Amino acid sequence: MSENTPITVAYGDGIGPEIMEATLNIINAAGAKLDIETIEVGEQVYLRGNAAGIEPSAWDSLRRTKVFLKAPITTPQGGGYKSLNVTTRKTLGLYANVRPCVSYHPYVSTKHPIMDLVIVRENEEDLYAGIEYRQTEDVYQCLKIITRPGSEKIIRYAFDYAVANNRKKVTCFVKDNIMKLTDGLFHKIFLAIAKEYPEIESEVWIVDIGAAKMANTPEAFDVLVMENLYGDILSDVAAQITGSVGLAGSSNIGENFAMFEAIHGSAPRRAGQNIANPSGLLLGAVMMLNHIGQNEVASKVHNAWLKTLEDGIHTYDIFKEGLSKEKVGTKEFGKAVIARLGENPSKLKVVNYKKLEKKASIKKETKKSIKQRKIW
Ligand code: NAD
Repeated sequence: MSENTPITVAYGDGIGPEIMEATLNIINAAGAKLDIETIEVGEQVYLRGNAAGIEPSAWDSLRRTKVFLKAPITTPQGGGYKSLNVTTRKTLGLYANVRPCVSYHPYVSTKHPIMDLVIVRENEEDLYAGIEYRQTEDVYQCLKIITRPGSEKIIRYAFDYAVANNRKKVTCFVKDNIMKLTDGLFHKIFLAIAKEYPEIESEVWIVDIGAAKMANTPEAFDVLVMENLYGDILSDVAAQITGSVGLAGSSNIGENFAMFEAIHGSAPRRAGQNIANPSGLLLGAVMMLNHIGQNEVASKVHNAWLKTLEDGIHTYDIFKEGLSKEKVGTKEFGKAVIARLGENPSKLKVVNYKKLEKKASIKKETKKSIKQRKIW
């Protein structure tokens, strides 16, 4: 039997194909053991007449492999087909969207030299439930859905993540001074679950001032948990203030499936020019390699990537005269990372995902013990 892990890959739209090619070249060169099934999703499928933007055969592949590495997809604004990202997250039950945002001072220019936070975004509910009505000619309504099971699941996930990754604090952002029932429920569940993790500090902020604080003083935060819309917006803000939205990867985790991607979109204006930064998708792929147990390859890729940043080999979005050494395109950046496989960064923190594997066992125990407790 092959020791390779089957995964499903979609090259996406806009800059997607370019950053996916660079990412796959790097992880293959690092020795990732993968059997790749490629599917087509997004704009092209829709334009061929498939209203869902995804063929039934693509769902078959996803059900088979259960692991999805996806480049960004274009979703039309204000009309047209539904977001395939939202459809995929909901169909596969990917309830937790985990988005680490880290600054790489002094190698990547940022106003926030100390920043290492993780946004855990609820991924299936809220205003993204897709229930919108036209009430009268001039009035439209969008329903915000917040459920007790959904909130419990994501908040527990955030605390479990903090325990497993040696994080110290979980912060919750809500707007329950206005949305007293929906955000009020999320807040109450957060307070109840926080009591089960006395070793983890916990706090709640109203989202508007919390967002301002995060944009100004990101070092005050560690793990943040929030509803879908707040998490979508604030993870772009967090990634951008590390130096570029092109630097952050994300995992979308469910009970049976997982999807890995960059946090940014398909950046159509940058497509086809070999200029996009593949780092976000590459870090998504690193999260995937950890998820499928290829921790050594994940560490090798992550360290070579850190070394590339340290060496000042930068794509246009993070290039800064005087700080960077060489402005490169997507392909050249990929080649620079491959040339450094086996090397570690000298100043930035070396990653070793073996350690995280051990901590994952703590997570399982924590989950088990949680099951035996009831909060309501
Ligand atoms: P975007 O994130 O695609 O890009 C905004 C800007 O950020 C770009 O113009 C570019 O200047 C910069 N940027 C983004 N990624 C970069 C990278 N890798 N390297 C260098 N610069 C980068 O946001 P948008 O323009 O609002 O959205 C474009 C499309 O992407 C929309 O159709 C949107 O729906 C879709 N989208 C998809 C996903 C996804 O597939 N998960 C996520 C967000 C947006």
